[in-house]
Amino acid sequence: MRTLLDSELLHRDQLYVNGRWTVSNSTDRIEVENPATEQVVGTAPSSSPDDIDAAVESAAVAFDSWSVSSVSERRAVLERFGAEMISRREELASLVTHEMGTPIELSRVVQADLPVAVLQGVLESMASLEQPELIGNSRIYREPVGVVAAITPWNYPIHQAVSKLAAALAAGCTVVLKPSEVTPLSAYLLADCAQAAGVPDGVVNIVTGSRDAGAHLAAHPLIDAVSFTGSTNAGRHIMSAAADTIRRVSLELGGKSANVLLEDGDLEQAVRRGVQHVMENSGQTCTAWTRMIVPARLQDEVVDVIRDEFQNIVVGDPWDVGTTMGPLANRRQKLQYERYVTSGRQEGAKVAAHRRVTPTVGHFVEPIAFCDVDNRMTIAREEVFGPLLSVIPYRDEAEALRIANDSIYGLSGAVWSSDAERALFFARRMQTGQVSVNGGKFNPAAPFGGFRQSGLGRELGRHGLEDFTEMKAVQL
Ligand code: NAD
Repeated sequence: MRTLLDSELLHRDQLYVNGRWTVSNSTDRIEVENPATEQVVGTAPSSSPDDIDAAVESAAVAFDSWSVSSVSERRAVLERFGAEMISRREELASLVTHEMGTPIELSRVVQADLPVAVLQGVLESMASLEQPELIGNSRIYREPVGVVAAITPWNYPIHQAVSKLAAALAAGCTVVLKPSEVTPLSAYLLADCAQAAGVPDGVVNIVTGSRDAGAHLAAHPLIDAVSFTGSTNAGRHIMSAAADTIRRVSLELGGKSANVLLEDGDLEQAVRRGVQHVMENSGQTCTAWTRMIVPARLQDEVVDVIRDEFQNIVVGDPWDVGTTMGPLANRRQKLQYERYVTSGRQEGAKVAAHRRVTPTVGHFVEPIAFCDVDNRMTIAREEVFGPLLSVIPYRDEAEALRIANDSIYGLSGAVWSSDAERALFFARRMQTGQVSVNGGKFNPAAPFGGFRQSGLGRELGRHGLEDFTEMKAVQL
């Protein structure tokens, strides 16, 4: 059922700077489109450079006191922040459904509950800040890195923002968050939660805008570290802009993850779980297992299971109970997706399964699985960011590993074998930041990040927290 949101949650006309709602210097507005209806459902200001400068300056002032606050003080603030998020679960989930079309049932889990679990993972790891590590005559302290620019995309907007905010605040950093221009409204709700939780003034600031606003923020001289999630291309720009002052950068970028079925793996589970993984959030997940790598002799059997699993995909109104797939987030994503489907057909992949979709309004697309995909094809190399699965056959295990690792990315992956040791042996050889063995579930306290062009640094749990610190060795 559709949750009715107050108009003030959908129409914002201020920015959150220095613990106060302030009027933007800019007259530019962001119009938030509901991708299921193509109607404008909300509005927000688009920050001017002056707005961003004011936010960074307030974060720099607040750093003086927040960076020396005690761990228990910061823990108490974050616990209150988490409690606010829990109390506003339905609004968080609904706002993201409005902004990017995630089916409401999924939204509650991944857009509202998952960020709270992430916050919990950070809280549990804060003890690591309390005692210095001893090495010989040295005490190793972890000091906050400074003022952080957090720049986030639209696909899991609350999860991505909280992954950065919680870890940075726990470490003693202050933050200026710039959410995606596609999903600014859900970030405003995080500002409401921060204010209600009594986060001290200037510790969390939220500005808005698109690429130029992100670039201005990331290049600001008072910013000590940039924590970015989004496309590899934007990550490249941020990294090169950081070179002049050797600013710290952490990047969570794209993926093209492999789901490898070994000869003795549970085919049914590997394939069903693999399809579900790719289709979740309409395929707009950086960790999606988009390349299903299967023994060539089993490909026909694999395709039968994919066809059957495709029957469970329900594309439709994100507010309807039972809908498993909403639209893509915007027209640009839809057009990009359709180009990839065309390229799969043109480059010789065979259609294994396909779901017809009829809505005439909204950025809905038809989920598709290709088989007989060659790993050199465009659909196997580039991040599609839509519900497209590529089945790639292999002859022997060495070839399976070679295909899995033949990618510019290395974010996630999976391997299936009835012999857990064999699966683990294979997992250790996959050049990727996360691997699920036989369906091992996502752990919000385990380090998350990529090899190669999937990024730099790690988020979540203790490792994510440590990414917002500098080590200081004090010799006694
Ligand atoms: P993007 O990388 O363009 O934008 C992500 C965030 O960075 C947004 O807040 C944006 O305003 C900002 N930004 C963009 N360019 C910037 C720059 N040069 N300097 C500073 N900030 C900048 O991603 P998008 O437009 O949201 O989507 C484009 C593509 O990115 C998608 O097609 C998809 O393939 C990919 N994507 C990946 C992820 C992921 O988690 N890996 C998430 C969303 C999108």
